[in-house]
Amino acid sequence: MLRTLVPHLVRTAPVRLALTHGPLSSAVIDRFVAGSTDKDAVGAVARLVGEGLRASVDLLGEGASHAQDARDTTEAYLRLLEVAEQAGLAAGLDVSVKLSALGQAVPRDGPALAGANAAIIAARAQELGATLTLDMEDHTTTDATLTVLAQLRQDVPTVGAVVQAQLRRTEGDCRDLARAGSRVRLCKGAYLEPAAVAHQGRSAVAAAYARCLGILLSGPGYPMIATHDPQLLALAGRLVRHLDRPAGSFEYQMLFGVRPGEQRRLAAAGAPVRVYLPYGPDCVPYLSRRLVEKPANLLLALQAASDWPAR
Ligand SMILES: Cc1cc2nc3c(=O)[nH]c(=O)nc-3n(C[C@H](O)[C@H](O)[C@H](O)COP(=O)(O)OP(=O)(O)OC[C@H]3O[C@@H](n4cnc5c(N)ncnc54)[C@H](O)[C@@H]3O)c2cc1C
Repeated sequence: MLRTLVPHLVRTAPVRLALTHGPLSSAVIDRFVAGSTDKDAVGAVARLVGEGLRASVDLLGEGASHAQDARDTTEAYLRLLEVAEQAGLAAGLDVSVKLSALGQAVPRDGPALAGANAAIIAARAQELGATLTLDMEDHTTTDATLTVLAQLRQDVPTVGAVVQAQLRRTEGDCRDLARAGSRVRLCKGAYLEPAAVAHQGRSAVAAAYARCLGILLSGPGYPMIATHDPQLLALAGRLVRHLDRPAGSFEYQMLFGVRPGEQRRLAAAGAPVRVYLPYGPDCVPYLSRRLVEKPANLLLALQAASDWPAR
């Protein structure tokens, strides 16, 4: 129910205002978002790298409806890469992009526009020793995103993709993508999807995740295990040992602000851990997904919103 209600709730003016300008800016935004500028983001990358972690930086924003907005986002990613390069942090950095932010939904030639913008970012990332990963949005975009992925990989083979275990199609996608050199981030899926296309319920999604994990870890690709779920992390550890996967052949990924202790514990044990680091002013859609994942986050948000602007 939360996953249905919250996205509607955050679109209302009072909640949106409370989310961006109320006391939530310290209570919730600071926990999940690295800041609003590229310098904030690169500063956060430096702190993570100093602690033995890696980063995938995401410029918040999705659903560009004009080609100019998509171009602006592309330019912003290029500036981010330059700021990272100047700080000596571009090599090994990953940038995560949503094709909707690069113009996928722009009328007429949206998919081609998004693909062309992604190609520009991918090429510059490659020059600097960084990588690009295409985030996955709702199921109506999966085929288009995987098509762009295949095109990008012709010139920049390190471009990575995300698959969502909750989608019924994903075991098949994992089989297709589990190829040498293929970077694949496996997550549960953050979007509310209908039963026709998606497993419903936590245990069905976790079981699907386990099956996809087995497929990816058994293949020659580079799985990126994106979950905070203790049981799935334990399963991943067992599979890695059982399959004798060398440390450089996979990585764990977690979100900035979520189970930071576990991120550091895994890294201290020698596992490669990358933190997904969102930044930018347009944080409401991202935060709404984080709020529904854990009821305690929502309670914190509602409490802060109800106190505001009284204090
Ligand atoms: C690196 C990374 C990239 C991602 N990219 C995408 C993407 O491209 N497309 C997409 O659809 N989804 C993406 N996701 C989100 C993902 O699909 C899930 O919605 C999210 O990771 C929560 O699922 P979980 O596997 O952690 O399991 P859950 O069962 O949701 O969480 C397990 C435990 O982790 C902790 N936890 C999880 N989320 C939170 C939170 N928000 N706040 C506090 N604690 C929390 C709690 O202790 C919880 O009990 C990404 C996730 C990660 C980690």
